[in-house]
Amino acid sequence: MNQKKYVYLFSEGNAGMRNLLGGKGANLAEMTNIGLPVPPGFTVTTEACTRYYEDGQVIGDDIAEQIFEHLEKLEKISGKKFGDPTNPLLVSVRSGARASMPGMMDTILNLGLNDETVEGLTKLTNNERFAYDSYRRFIQMFSDVVMQIDKNLFENILDEIKEQNNAKYDTDLTAENLKEVVKRYKELYRKEKGEEFPSDPKVQLLEAVKAVFRSWNNPRAIVYRKLNDIPSDWGTAVNVQMMVFGNMGETSGTGVAFTRNPSTGENKIFGEYLINAQGEDVVAGIRTPQSIETLKEVMPECYEEFVRIAHILEKHYKDMQDMEFTIEQGKLYFLQTRNGKRTAQAALRIAVEMVEEGLITKEEAMLKVEPKQLDQLLHPMFDQEELKKAKEIAKGLPASPGAACGKVYFTAEEAKQRRQLGERVILVRTETSPEDIEGMVAAEGILTARGGMTSHAAVVARGMGKCCVAGCGDIKINEEGKYFTVGDIVIREGDYISIDGSTGKVYGQKIKTVEPEITGYFGTFMEWADSIRKLKVRTNADTPRDAAQAVKFGAEGIGLCRTEHMFFDEDRIPAVREMIVAKTEEQRRKALDKLLPMQKQDFIGIYEAMQDRPVTIRLLDPPLHEFLPQEDEDIRELAENMGISYEELKATVDSLKEFNPMLGHRGCRLAVTYPEIAEMQTRAIIEAAIDVKKRLGYNIVPEIMIPLVGDVKELKYVKDVIVKVANDIIKRENVNLQYKVGTMIEIPRAALTADEIAKEAEFFSFGTNDLTQMTFGFSRDDAGKFLKDYYDKKIFEYDPFQKLDQSGVGKLVKMACELGKQTRQDIKLGICGEHGGEPTSVEFCHNVGLDYVSCSPFRVPIARLAAAQAQVKNPR
Ligand code: ADP
Ligand code: MG
Ligand code: MG
Repeated sequence: MNQKKYVYLFSEGNAGMRNLLGGKGANLAEMTNIGLPVPPGFTVTTEACTRYYEDGQVIGDDIAEQIFEHLEKLEKISGKKFGDPTNPLLVSVRSGARASMPGMMDTILNLGLNDETVEGLTKLTNNERFAYDSYRRFIQMFSDVVMQIDKNLFENILDEIKEQNNAKYDTDLTAENLKEVVKRYKELYRKEKGEEFPSDPKVQLLEAVKAVFRSWNNPRAIVYRKLNDIPSDWGTAVNVQMMVFGNMGETSGTGVAFTRNPSTGENKIFGEYLINAQGEDVVAGIRTPQSIETLKEVMPECYEEFVRIAHILEKHYKDMQDMEFTIEQGKLYFLQTRNGKRTAQAALRIAVEMVEEGLITKEEAMLKVEPKQLDQLLHPMFDQEELKKAKEIAKGLPASPGAACGKVYFTAEEAKQRRQLGERVILVRTETSPEDIEGMVAAEGILTARGGMTSHAAVVARGMGKCCVAGCGDIKINEEGKYFTVGDIVIREGDYISIDGSTGKVYGQKIKTVEPEITGYFGTFMEWADSIRKLKVRTNADTPRDAAQAVKFGAEGIGLCRTEHMFFDEDRIPAVREMIVAKTEEQRRKALDKLLPMQKQDFIGIYEAMQDRPVTIRLLDPPLHEFLPQEDEDIRELAENMGISYEELKATVDSLKEFNPMLGHRGCRLAVTYPEIAEMQTRAIIEAAIDVKKRLGYNIVPEIMIPLVGDVKELKYVKDVIVKVANDIIKRENVNLQYKVGTMIEIPRAALTADEIAKEAEFFSFGTNDLTQMTFGFSRDDAGKFLKDYYDKKIFEYDPFQKLDQSGVGKLVKMACELGKQTRQDIKLGICGEHGGEPTSVEFCHNVGLDYVSCSPFRVPIARLAAAQAQVKNPR
């Protein structure tokens, strides 16, 4: 019968077999096959690990048999024998899953040693000190890793003996000293386990393999898997490899190196090594390692060879490599290679330089940078030197990235006033609400004590590209006393703090910040991304400032300009409120007349910032009560200002209250009830366009967007209002101005009837925030509370408000695109929800054929790269 193969010699595998052999095993095989000096060995597959669990945590006889068969092959290849006292084969046992996973089992080195083989090793190498150094290391690792005896107990013994013999480093210990260490270690083992240290190498080997399998399910590994979406049924592979020894004296050593600098990207080998050391001594910091360059003087030939192979590996994998090596008596061995982790700066430089060197194409370069990583480069950052010295006082959620430093103020009002006086401000609130918007605009950053990643503060701050740390439960705010405390630290109004929205850290002091720029390698890389991508990238922006910022970051237009944000300004809200509480159309028109010039000025500013680029402006969308005061005191004050009675205003406020405002009187429904609002906004949009066109000559084509449409008839009604006003003005002014009228697709019914909607709409913009909310039936403002349970219970893997739900909401988007095109072949399609800047969602938008995505200014570069990657993966 054909037996399933559970064990592969390194010479039988390759880099493509990652799923079966794990990352480490697949790369060891690949290196072996391209003829690099890799100590021989074999890999027990991830499937053997899965079997181990299926069989009730035992290694099946067939698997054990295959392990020993391959051990024999290894003996032949190495010319040594496992357990042979005259010429012993020693091995390492190393874990290695598909994805690199810290938290898995530690490696065991020198397996196969016992009281007899250690003597054989001594004779063979004529180096007793080395033999016993290897033996004591083995006992310690095996006891710790396989038998779970506290490794500190061993460290204590080693320290004691070092002290007794005046040895500063482990390398100062003599053979005799090390023999004493081994003796004490074995006593300790006996005491802890009630039995002798296992001397049979075959028992040692199987126990070690089992320990690797077990480590797949240790708590550290489980936590890591959860955090990184690694399925629990993958299992880990085990690598068994002939030992080479870096601890054989002054011509031996071990080290780790990168083919390029992982923090700057500089094309220069970067790494460290230690002479007369083994395994992880370098990272463990038992002695100070040497920089790799010094190897050139110590062992020139070895260094040359190392550089030569490093280059081979980088060419072969077409990526920066992170390597482990060992030198045994002047002979170099490679023990591991993998694509190295790197900072965003390094990733960009490496990608650009590899293209310039002819190693990769521009398309391949796109895939070497993680779009989300760019985020690190787009916000103000702390000066690294000052940050090192700073002390963290509290930690909250990293709600909106960037670094901010300023004086603490506790109300939006105060924040605004202080800003006007030229101070830099951090707004500290228990939580924020729409009334705090102006304070948030004025602040460098926002810190809240309550609320999650989708709280008001978090969402609004991300939209503004403003640094925010939310839900920082460590701080206790006393708004009246104007101070907050963390433990016994007291921070008062006017004191400096610094917050890091990328890490959630809060510092009780001033830290210098530096501004971002897209230049140098970053600039070149983004130009390439633009030349590759097909999907356009626009921005969501409501102010000339945001629009200008977005253009700097490469935005090609505005996909969503929310007009309501313009209504919250202090000098406008009275007119807005007047309009809302108006009893008659006439009164309402009077209030709207006051708003018209301001609104027109807004659009002029935005058109000027965007020049010839397209601008989509959405008509008023939120429920009206959001503009009214809710507290009695504020109502009284407003009534006085407006010259009406408190009772009358209170009644209006109450009448506007809705049980479910998000499903209430908002969106195009407002324009159906009060067409004069849409009229005023249209007038502002068109008159502003004519003004800028006449003055500056830009070819402006305003795109007027009607929100929250569910039925083509309501769209038609509002559209007719818009068209009448727009055409009248154009005729009156006698200019040639094109404009478009389209709609948001954010109600499932609109997606379902997109063919009908397209009869009236010249463009669709998918409002995936509301579309997600209404497709799932989850309130976006409340979902944070229970979605956590969905992740914990593995019902959901991610937040559908951040990452587009492709199989449900995405299906509606895809369908609406197809239906829309059936009716109107050249219909323009875009997305303007939060998803427009999220890489997997951008890829989806590319695949379903949207013309553009639109996202907040700070995510524009991320979307540009994600769009280029989508085109490389799936050209259209
Ligand atoms: P990790 O995944 O934690 O890096 P590794 O399996 O790579 O663990 O091994 C840890 C250390 O042991 C590394 O420094 C590696 O180079 C060294 N090592 C592993 N196998 C051998 C071997 N056969 N000979 C010499 N050193 C080895
Ligand atoms: Mg390790
Ligand atoms: Mg390693």
